[in-house]
Amino acid sequence: MKQYILLAFLFSGSTGFAQDSLSKYTEVWSPVPRVVTAGKTSTDPPSDAVILFRNKKDTANWQQDNGKPFAWKADDSLITVTSGGAIRTKQSFGDCQLHIEWRTPAEIKGNGQGRGNSGIFLMSRYELQVLDSYNNPTYSNGQAGSIYKQHIPLVNACRPPGEWQSYDILFTAPQFYADGSVKNPARITVFQNGVLVQNNVEIIGGTRYIGIARYEKHGEKAPLLLQDHGNPVSFRNVWIREL
Ligand code: MG
Repeated sequence: MKQYILLAFLFSGSTGFAQDSLSKYTEVWSPVPRVVTAGKTSTDPPSDAVILFRNKKDTANWQQDNGKPFAWKADDSLITVTSGGAIRTKQSFGDCQLHIEWRTPAEIKGNGQGRGNSGIFLMSRYELQVLDSYNNPTYSNGQAGSIYKQHIPLVNACRPPGEWQSYDILFTAPQFYADGSVKNPARITVFQNGVLVQNNVEIIGGTRYIGIARYEKHGEKAPLLLQDHGNPVSFRNVWIREL
């Protein structure tokens, strides 16, 4: 920085030609960012996205977490939690940009954690909560948009039950030393319906329902997992970009 200040001082008041030459010191021409064709809208997958679910045939990208074939209800453009437990992608991911849309049931049943509960588990371990948090009090670090039992969302951006909502997620995977200790914890940024709810927060460890979250060493990539919490939550338009 010092040299730039000195150069700016020397050239101040000089000709336009000299200033053009000076400006070249701060031009960087390489690397050239590769071209990605954006979707027609920000919810459509860009050209380099991995499509995880857009229509029924994409259920082939998923399996039950117990290794059995996909068993949730699948309609043309959405999947719905039924029985059979969580589902996970067959492909594994680390650092990523994830778009996912979800809908809690229009018919309100239950309350608190029992209403429209599901979850998006990055790397099968770190839960971004899915819940009907529209006029449905529960503990703040367990409502929709929370990193479950770790980070309260900045605001409640929930739409009413029965309406589609979106999460746009930027996730940085944790890094570990060979001895299993944490080199860099995971980080996550989340927009819910276009509203920032998590701003580059540090994930404390793997999600735990009871007890304090903690890290256990794992690989650089792991499947994305969607929770079966016994409520018929639906998902659609799921795509991911590896970073
Ligand atoms: Mg959940």
